[in-house]
Amino acid sequence: MDASYVNSRLFALRHSAAHLMAQSVLQLYPDAKLTIGPPIENGFYYDIDFGDKKFSEDDLVRIEERMAENAARDLPIVREELSREEARKRILAMKQDPYKLELLDDIPEGDVISFYTQGEFTDLCRGPHVASTGEIQNFKLLNVAGAYWRGSEKNKMLTRLYGTAFETQQELDRYLHNLEEAKKRDHRLLGRELGLFMFSPVVGQGLPLWLPKGATLRDTLTEFLKAEQLKRGYEPVVTPNIGSEKLYEKSGHIITYRDKMFPFMTDADGDTFILKPMNCPFHIEIYKSELRSYRDLPIRYAEFGTVYRYEQSGELAGMLRVRGFTQDDAHLFMRPDQLLDEFVATVDLTIFVCKKLGLHDYAVRLGTRDPSSNKYVGSDENWSLAESAIEQACKQMGLDFEISPGDAAFYGPKLDLMLRDALGRVWQMGTIQVDYNLPERFDLEYIGEDGQPHRPIMIHRAPFGSLERMIGLLTEHYAGAFPFWLAPVQIVLLPIADRHVEYAQKVREELLSIDPKLRIAIDDSSERLGKKIVMNQAQKVPYMLVVGDKDAENHTVSVRSRDEGDIGAMEIAAFLQRALG
Ligand SMILES: [Zn+2]
Ligand SMILES: [Zn+2]
Repeated sequence: MDASYVNSRLFALRHSAAHLMAQSVLQLYPDAKLTIGPPIENGFYYDIDFGDKKFSEDDLVRIEERMAENAARDLPIVREELSREEARKRILAMKQDPYKLELLDDIPEGDVISFYTQGEFTDLCRGPHVASTGEIQNFKLLNVAGAYWRGSEKNKMLTRLYGTAFETQQELDRYLHNLEEAKKRDHRLLGRELGLFMFSPVVGQGLPLWLPKGATLRDTLTEFLKAEQLKRGYEPVVTPNIGSEKLYEKSGHIITYRDKMFPFMTDADGDTFILKPMNCPFHIEIYKSELRSYRDLPIRYAEFGTVYRYEQSGELAGMLRVRGFTQDDAHLFMRPDQLLDEFVATVDLTIFVCKKLGLHDYAVRLGTRDPSSNKYVGSDENWSLAESAIEQACKQMGLDFEISPGDAAFYGPKLDLMLRDALGRVWQMGTIQVDYNLPERFDLEYIGEDGQPHRPIMIHRAPFGSLERMIGLLTEHYAGAFPFWLAPVQIVLLPIADRHVEYAQKVREELLSIDPKLRIAIDDSSERLGKKIVMNQAQKVPYMLVVGDKDAENHTVSVRSRDEGDIGAMEIAAFLQRALG
C-alpha cells in the first residue's frame, strides 16, 4: 500500500468502519472474540473468533444493518492512552482475552498503548480514526473467509469478515459495480468459454495449455512485437530450455534465485542441468562468443523465451501467476554513453506496445536506490549515471513519473509501467531494468576507441512481461471482446441454409485474396440462423456475415457487427474497408 493511501482520510475511514463492524458483531454475538481488524487496499477486514458458530450470508446482512444503526447513533470516537496495567484490565473487562492480551504483549515496552472507544465499545488500537461513527455512511460487507490466527496453520482458524467503505455513495456503487464486472471478466472463466486456454490437473498446476484460439491470439501478439523489434534494430536469438548449473552459478542465480527454481537434474555423465528460469545468461554467452568493438554496440538480442519458475501452489493465479511462461524478453548491451538513448528507445517501444493494445491509461514509476542501504552492486558513479539517465529519459519524453526510492533491484535501477485496465485496476507490466551486475559477473567487455577493454551496460526489458500475463490482462480488459486485429476469429460467415455454403466459401476466398492474413471461419453447422448468431455472439467474434439467396445474387454480405449490431447488406470490398477501418 502506498504511503499516500495509508496517510489518507479514506484509510482512517475504513479503519473506523472495521471498528463499527466489530462493535456491531459484539452486540449481536456477545461471545465473539476480536483479533485484528486493519484497513486494506480496497476496504477493511476483521478476524474474529466466533467459537463453533457457522457463518452465513444472513449473518452479514444482520451485521450490516446493525452497523447502519450504530452509525446513525453518531457516537464520538475517542482516543485515550493507558498504562499497560490499565490496558490489561480494560481488555479483561471487555472479555477480549486471550487475543487482545497477546497483541498487548506485542507492544514494545515504552511504546504508547492507546484505545479507541465509541459508545459501549472499546478496542486496543493505534488509530487513527475519523471523529465519529456518523461519518461512516457508505459501506458494504462483502464476504467471509477463513484465516489462521497470526497466519499460522498451527493456530486456530478464525472468521475473516471483509467489507469496504467510501466517502460517497457514488464511489461505493462504482466499486461494487466493478467488482461484479471483474467476476464476469475473470480470465480463467473467459479463457475456457472462448476457447483460449485451460489448465489440467494431469498436466500439472500452473502449466497452461493453449487452445487453438488462444494460440492464435498469442501468435498475433508475437508477430506484432517481432516485426516492431526488427524495425527498431533488435536481432532474434533462440536458446535452449535447460542450461548447465555452471551457467547459473556464474550468473549468481543459484544463490539469489534458488527458491524459484525447479529441482536440478543430473545426467549419466554427472553434469547438472537447470530448467531455465531466466534467459539472460544465455544471451550473455552469445555476446561473449565474439570480441566486441565500441562500433558494434548497442547489440539488442530478442527472444520469446520460455522459462519455468517454481511458484508455490497457493500463489498460482490463472494466467497471472504460472509456473511455465514465455517472456517477450530482450537484452541490450551498450556503452555508458549510449544508455540514455537506449533507455528512451526502450521506454518508447514499451509505450508504443501498450497503446497498440488499447491500454492508454498508465503511470510510470522509477525504482531508485535506498540511500541508507549498501546492498547494491556497482560503483556510485554508475548508479548516479543510470538514475539520472532514466530520469532524464522520462523528462525528455514528457512522461509523468513518480520516483520510488528503495525500489531498485540490487543490480540496477528500473522503470515500471503501471497499467490501469477498463475497471480501474492497476497491473504492473513492462519493466525496464538497468544492470551493472551481470556484465561484471560474466566479465563482459568491448574494445573502446582507446584500444582498451571496457565494461558494457545491460538493459533487460519485456514490454508484455509475459504472453501469459498480458493475455490474461487483455482478456479481462476487453471482457473477451478483443479488437479486430487481435481477435482469434475476426469474421465468421453464417450461411442461412446448406445451399449457401458454397457462396460463403467464395466470399471467404475473395476476402483472403484481398488480405491473406484475415482469420475467417464459416459456421456451416446445421443449427438455425438465430442459434448460430447467438453462439457466435457469445464467442465475441467482431463480425458475422450472414449470407443467403439475395446476397449470392447481389454479391453482397449482410453484416452484423459485435459492437454496432445489424448494419445491413454491403459489397464485400466495402465491408472489408469498414472492418479494417
Ligand atoms: Zn483499530
Ligand atoms: Zn534478463
